Amino acid sequence: MSEGVIPFSLAENVLKRIDVGIFVLNKNFEVQLWNNFMVHHSGHQAKDMLGKNLFDAFPDLPKPWFTKKVNTVIMLNNFAFISWENRPFLFRFAHNRPITGGADHMYQNCMLMPVSNDSSKPESVCVVIFDVTDTAIATTMLKDAMERIADISNRDGLTGIYNRRYLETRLESEFDRTRRYGGTFSMILFDLDFFKKVNDTYGHLAGDKVLVEVARRMSDQLRTTDVVGRYGGEEFALILPETPIEGARVFGDRLREMIELEPVIYDNTTIPVTVSMGATEYSADLASYDKLILQSDVALYASKAGGRNCLTCYSPELETIAASGAKH
Ligand code: GH3
Ligand code: MG
Ligand code: MG
Repeated sequence: MSEGVIPFSLAENVLKRIDVGIFVLNKNFEVQLWNNFMVHHSGHQAKDMLGKNLFDAFPDLPKPWFTKKVNTVIMLNNFAFISWENRPFLFRFAHNRPITGGADHMYQNCMLMPVSNDSSKPESVCVVIFDVTDTAIATTMLKDAMERIADISNRDGLTGIYNRRYLETRLESEFDRTRRYGGTFSMILFDLDFFKKVNDTYGHLAGDKVLVEVARRMSDQLRTTDVVGRYGGEEFALILPETPIEGARVFGDRLREMIELEPVIYDNTTIPVTVSMGATEYSADLASYDKLILQSDVALYASKAGGRNCLTCYSPELETIAASGAKH
């Protein structure tokens, strides 16, 4: 045996036994070789495939895309690799996993290599199909888990709406976006009125139920672009993109009335709830996003000082009321 030449029977045995799909196509996409993996998974026998046009045997193949790939491999005399992450499979084969993990087909990596009978210009392409279902399932599960963890870390445990950290991140990006591209947005900070009394009168669990219910009602009213979060204990914040202060006032007042008109029922007890709100709008002369939090806090304080269950829009004169100090 000369160096580098594999006995035909040995090569044939390897082709038969190897757990990857191997087939060869000529320039007309006629099958020149079809190994046992391909037989087993496609259900097409080698004797039926040899000389047959691949696309006639598999009408579901992505013909224009795959034709271009094969032609490029021949033209450039170079390898090509197709990852399952870009295209989950070339052939829709079933996989043999007992537990599917949600996969309803075999995920495949594909390698295309130019081949020739002598070592001159390639006239065929050898396609190698790797079954990467296990990797794909594990990677997909890991990605899903990471997304869930990222989402959980942005949310408040009690109410399920966004938490303060996420709110501030969004506020900052909305601030930067508006500063760069123009437009406007508003934010509303609001605080439940006499909430200590709710806890004292009906118990802490009832207080929790009120927080959950208020969060749910707000979420139901929002546009998908609006952001609602729990800013602190019984303080919430809303970011309203593309909304000038007049719009924020109308929307905030509607929410406020809705909360007032529908008391929370807990354990057959009716708990009246009202909220006080402070609203403010983006302005180009603000140094940073946290000025908006300070302004809506000042406006909120004015609502508390003004008798509660109302909404106040920020104006610089309110600073003097706030400076006389009290906390909500
Ligand atoms: P005001 O109208 O001035 O806002 O009066 P208030 O009673 O709401 O005053 P304050 O903001 O000082 O009280 C907030 C209360 O909210 C105190 C705290 O026990 C309660 N609280 C904060 N977080 C939670 C929570 O997660 N669950 C419950 N049940 N209560 C909470
Ligand atoms: Mg309060
Ligand atoms: Mg408070």
